[in-house]
Amino acid sequence: MMAHHAYIGLGSNIEHPQHQVLQALKALQHLPLTTHVQASRLYASRPIGPQDQPDFINAVALIETHLSPLALLDQLQALEQRQRRVRQRRWGPRTLDLDLLLYDDNVIVHPRLLVPHPEMHRRGFVLVPLAEIAPTLYLPDGTSIAHLAKKYRDVGLKPL
Ligand code: AMP
Repeated sequence: MMAHHAYIGLGSNIEHPQHQVLQALKALQHLPLTTHVQASRLYASRPIGPQDQPDFINAVALIETHLSPLALLDQLQALEQRQRRVRQRRWGPRTLDLDLLLYDDNVIVHPRLLVPHPEMHRRGFVLVPLAEIAPTLYLPDGTSIAHLAKKYRDVGLKPL
């Protein structure tokens, strides 16, 4: 059976965010039923929402996996827990946030899981790293990722 292509968005802005993201990327390589992992560079971005918090570090990874979408979400949430994600307020600091952005060209509407991730098409910190590793990728509705990412080239997103 063919492996599924899943894109994961990673973000962190407290407790050594760069380390959090690198550790999560390493953990993705050890997910069950998952073979290949390809990661973008790490990017620094200003936070959305409250500004009195440190920069976010973001990256996007492609994994090739035989996990189902919900089994993958379980794994991502377990990783978040393991890296002691704490949430004091909405859009506030967090040790690690993992989003399932895309799963092949599936459209998933489930109480626990919306794919494509509903915010991804207007988040530069997702689109720019995603376009870096997948310049020819399209959303299930036919929108070009590279085209979307172009709008966010100059929004203060810096590769490390
Ligand atoms: P957040 O705290 O913003 O990361 O949201 C976490 C919640 O979003 C969890 O309850 C997930 O079940 C739900 N969720 C829905 N769609 C997704 C997705 N594509 N990736 C990650 N979490 C998702």
